[in-house]
This record gives sequence, structure tokens and C-alpha cells, in this order.
Amino acid sequence: MTHDNPSPVGALTRRTLLGAAAATGVGALTVGLTDGAAEAATLQGSLPASVDVVVVGGGISGLVAARQVARSGRSSEGSPQLSLFVVPTDSPGLTWQTIEAALVQPEHQFTVFFDDVPVGPEALIGTDGSGLRHVFSGLNPERITAASISNGISLYALDKATAYANERTVWKGVPIGAHQGVAHPLAECYIAVTQARLLAARAAELFDTGGDAAEASNIAKFAAADASLTTLDQAMQTHGGNGLALEYGLSDYWFLARMLKTAPVSREMVLNFVAQRSLGLPASY
Ligand SMILES: Cc1cc2nc3c(=O)[nH]c(=O)nc-3n(C[C@H](O)[C@H](O)[C@H](O)COP(=O)(O)OP(=O)(O)OC[C@H]3O[C@@H](n4cnc5c(N)ncnc54)[C@H](O)[C@@H]3O)c2cc1C
Repeated sequence: MTHDNPSPVGALTRRTLLGAAAATGVGALTVGLTDGAAEAATLQGSLPASVDVVVVGGGISGLVAARQVARSGRSSEGSPQLSLFVVPTDSPGLTWQTIEAALVQPEHQFTVFFDDVPVGPEALIGTDGSGLRHVFSGLNPERITAASISNGISLYALDKATAYANERTVWKGVPIGAHQGVAHPLAECYIAVTQARLLAARAAELFDTGGDAAEASNIAKFAAADASLTTLDQAMQTHGGNGLALEYGLSDYWFLARMLKTAPVSREMVLNFVAQRSLGLPASY
């Protein structure tokens, strides 16, 4: 896609993506499915004739424009041809509901409904018929980003915990960090986050150099999410009761760290990926 392309194909997409790049607009990607039957039908290529828009959101973040995958035709073999589109939020048939969530963050989450939302060539992202390929190409960087957020939470929590453990004394003026019961769990957290950061760096390097980053991105995301939950928990424990006080700046990260265990890909789906792709074990689904 070039900026001066006079064709209507992708014109809306170009405006939207350039707006996002210039920080004058925000986009949200929805690839979740609320309906398992639709998922099965899509992936098996036996789409019901009445379904025009196939992929609809689970929860999505920061809704201003939504992207969706919709059927744009059928292949010569008769299987559904799926394409990726950008959809303005004032499109007819596009509605959403806010999901009240425990997360403390500037973004909000929404359940989005697409009811026969019209899409045309001006809204096409990438190549017609390659929608799923385009969606999947975004998943690895999203996982690397998620890993980096988790790793940031870990480093932040460790910083807070070590400062507190050096300062806080209980009995005889000895800082609590001198006790191995406090120090060793923090040392283990440091080892875990160091491993997770190396994995994330490796995944990013593979992605940036055009390699196959799927396994590395999944593993990095998994390791980082687990490490951040353990580390944040240990940092709160180090603070005793103060770990729960908002003033100490730890507990308000809890649901963000917890969310990253589930999204953008759940722990179990990473284990499925590793079991099937890395170890060659059979799939259960
Ligand atoms: C704050 C937040 C923001 C989000 N933002 C977006 C967004 O912007 N765009 C978007 O598309 N999505 C978004 N999501 C959705 C997110 O990607 C999904 O919630 C996540 O991938 C899990 O999918 P699910 O909720 O459909 O769980 P389900 O698929 O319903 O799974 C439920 C549970 O069962 C487990 N499970 C399911 N199948 C298997 C299996 N075969 N083997 C073992 N375990 C299994 C899962 O791991 C999970 O623990 C967001 C979610 C949250 C919480």
C-alpha cells in the first residue's frame, strides 16, 4: 500500500492507519470469537450462507475504530475467503458495550457486535482473501509487547521490594532484606525476570530479522507473565500490610499482571502451542 495510491481500495484503511501512526486516532483489533460454532465453521470452511460477518469480538481494548475479519467471497474450491477490514465506529450495525473490569489502566474494554456491518474495498486491509494471514502476522509482536509489559511490572516491583527490604527494620534494627526468608524469594524473582527478559529479547530479534518468531514469542509471553505475577506477589509480601496500601504503588498493578496471564493469549493456549508445535504432540481440538 502506498500513500499516494489513487485507488479506492484501502483508502479508508490508509486514512485510519495513518491517523493511528500520527496519534490522532486509535484502533482496536478484534480477533476473538464469541461463538464457537462460528469459529468451527470458519476454520473448517463450511460457513453458513446466512453469515456475512464471521469474526466478532470477545473483549477488545480502546475502541475507536474496529478491525474485523469478514467473508469477502469464496475460493474456487468453495471455501470461505476471509479478509481483514477497518470499520469506523459510526458504521451502521456496529455497537458495543463497556465491560466493567478490575484493571487500573487508561484503556477500557468493550464487547463489540457486528450486525451486517457493510464493508467495501475502501476498508480492506492488505490483500483480499488473506485476512487470517494478516491477523496472525500481528500476534507475535503483540505477544512480545505483552511479555515486555510483564517484564516491566517485574522490574518495577523488584525495585520497590528491594528498596523497602533495605529500609524496613523489624526487631533489633536489622533490615528485613537481611533475612533469607525475604531475600531468597526476591533473588529467585530476579532470576525469573532475567530469564524472561532474555526470552523476550530473543523473540523480538527473531521477529525484527524476519525469522519464525512464533515459538519464541509464545514462550517469552508465558515466562514473563508467570514471572511478573510471582514477583509482584513477592514484592507485596515484602511490604507486609503496606503491600495492599495504594500509597506503596504495588497493589494497583495486580489485575494488569493477572490479565497478562490470560490475554492476549492464555497460558493454556501457549502450552497447547508448545505441546503441538514444539514437541509434536497431537492436538485435542
Ligand atoms: C483486558 C483485556 C483486553 C482484551 N483486549 C482484546 C483486544 O483488544 N482484541 C481481542 O481480540 N481480544 C482481546 N481480549 C480477549 C483475549 O485475547 C482473550 O480473553 C484471551 O485470548 C482468552 O480467550 P477467551 O477469553 O475467549 O477464553 P476461552 O477461549 O473461552 O477460554 C477459557 C479458558 O479455557 C482455556 N482453554 C480454552 N481452550 C483450551 C484448550 N484447548 N486447552 C486448554 N485450555 C483451554 C483458556 O486458556 C482459558 O483459561 C482482551 C481480554 C482482556 C481480559
